[in-house]
Amino acid sequence: MVASLTDVLASVRAAVRAASTLCLAVGDPERLEKLEREPVTLADYGSQAVILRAAALEFPDDRVIAEEGSGHLLGSAGEDGAAAIAALVGDAIGLPCSRHDVVAWIDHTGGLGGRTWAVDPIDGTKGFLRGDQFAVAVGILEEGVPVAGVLGCPRFEVAGTTGVLFWGGPGLGSFVEPLTGGEPKPVFVSSVTRADATRVLGSVEAAHGDPSLVRELIERVGLGGGWVRIDSQVKYGAVAAGLAEVYLRPRSRHDWRERVWDHAAGAAIVAGAGGTVTDLDGVPLDFTTGSVLEGNRGVLVTNGPLHGVILEALRVG
Ligand code: AMP
Ligand code: MG
Repeated sequence: MVASLTDVLASVRAAVRAASTLCLAVGDPERLEKLEREPVTLADYGSQAVILRAAALEFPDDRVIAEEGSGHLLGSAGEDGAAAIAALVGDAIGLPCSRHDVVAWIDHTGGLGGRTWAVDPIDGTKGFLRGDQFAVAVGILEEGVPVAGVLGCPRFEVAGTTGVLFWGGPGLGSFVEPLTGGEPKPVFVSSVTRADATRVLGSVEAAHGDPSLVRELIERVGLGGGWVRIDSQVKYGAVAAGLAEVYLRPRSRHDWRERVWDHAAGAAIVAGAGGTVTDLDGVPLDFTTGSVLEGNRGVLVTNGPLHGVILEALRVG
């Protein structure tokens, strides 16, 4: 029998909680070299092992698409690094485990295909290394449609609580709860419709978007609520919780393709909170093309009412 989405969400929430705690436990993370790619740390691998272990043990028929693989880990972290990751994972799951277990979990892709987990074990590794925001992200796709998402945001503050878990999806509602446990509270997108009060979010890393286009659009449309730059899918959580109205991510360069694990969880959570996610032409993001999203020139996330105004400004800009 296929496990229900509710069962999957419960398991993913527990795994993301454990993985987020693991990331914080690393304390002063070191960057491992990852040629021509994003930085990576021992915490990225540990977090991925914790999450994919849950998939492997509890939902072996589900597929997994995840950012990291063990090949690079063994090359750059070596035996000592692998042993350190096994110790971190053992602490996070409360059971001893070997480096062989950890390697097998990191590489678990599983599955038959209907339901897929899109996993970014540390989204915003650059933010994580700087001591800024990052997220542990798991999106659940059914036949290429994001139906649920979980975002562990260990350094993000909502209503006086630092360290939160966002989760939810279209038709489920979306929620925020303390990472350390506690009652989930429903979140809703902001009801602001005035341009002069509209708050905009973007990446910290200029290379992950086109800040000059964002700045020009903010001025032209008169979006006056401020422009805040935050790493990772924490931006999606902030829009879902009504803390900003717009997250604009124009494609950074012509040959860049957004990664499925950078958007699936956030898109589900914003939809569950009543917001809208499309590409810059107003077309829903296409999550059916594997690990990269084809056919778009960037991503627009809003509270809904402002979506048309921004799309129109992008069209004539
Ligand atoms: P953010 O923190 O929102 O800027 O997004 C972090 C994500 O940006 C990482 O997980 C990467 O997958 C992704 N990324 C890396 N290089 C680029 C790029 N050139 N353009 C857009 N996104 C990128
Ligand atoms: Mg990422």
